[in-house]
Amino acid sequence: MKVIEPGDGEILDIELEEDFLRRNRELAAENRRLLDKYGIHAIDIMGSIGSGKTSLVVQMATRLKQKYKIAAITGDVTTTIDAERVKAAGASVIEINTGKECHLDANLVRKAISELDLREIDLLFIENVGNLICPVDFPLGSHQRIAVVAVTEGPYTVVKHPFIFGEADIAVINKIDLCQAMLVEPEVLKEQLLRIKPNLMVAKTNCMTGEGLETVVGSLGL
Ligand code: MG
Ligand code: ZN
Repeated sequence: MKVIEPGDGEILDIELEEDFLRRNRELAAENRRLLDKYGIHAIDIMGSIGSGKTSLVVQMATRLKQKYKIAAITGDVTTTIDAERVKAAGASVIEINTGKECHLDANLVRKAISELDLREIDLLFIENVGNLICPVDFPLGSHQRIAVVAVTEGPYTVVKHPFIFGEADIAVINKIDLCQAMLVEPEVLKEQLLRIKPNLMVAKTNCMTGEGLETVVGSLGL
């Protein structure tokens, strides 16, 4: 089958893009320095719309709020639905509405961080906008990255998006309770993930019930 791929320099805004990406990396490094200065461990969560990123943050916050002072930055195109849910789980929350932007960048995260009382935080979750493509190129300054894939996305998300899972430290296969209805075998997704990145930590979860959350929390070293 004929497949068309852009060659070097064939994407029209490539030089502009290089500049943006370099600036983002600089700002991400600044974010990291600021977080480190205050002893804050930051984790960002990436994945498709509806994969369960917010439910995962809620589950992690619920489990860890006795041990750590938790804040969250939730990125959404428009609503504050996710922010309200995470707040109800006991975290202080800053919402970023990106408008038409399909990912968080280090500058937006820097703005959000400046709204937080950093002395009062040990652990920061950053929920990205639901997207499997751009977050790869936009590090935010976090210490660890989680990529979530739900079995309800069907069998091909992992093989189609190797970069995002290769970028992650931990992959979460979510909604495992629905795997039979979806005819998706979580173990097959896990094998695909490990083919992309052999040292990737993989957890299988049901973020509605909390099943598998010990593995996630353990993998994060928290
Ligand atoms: Mg969400
Ligand atoms: Zn984007």
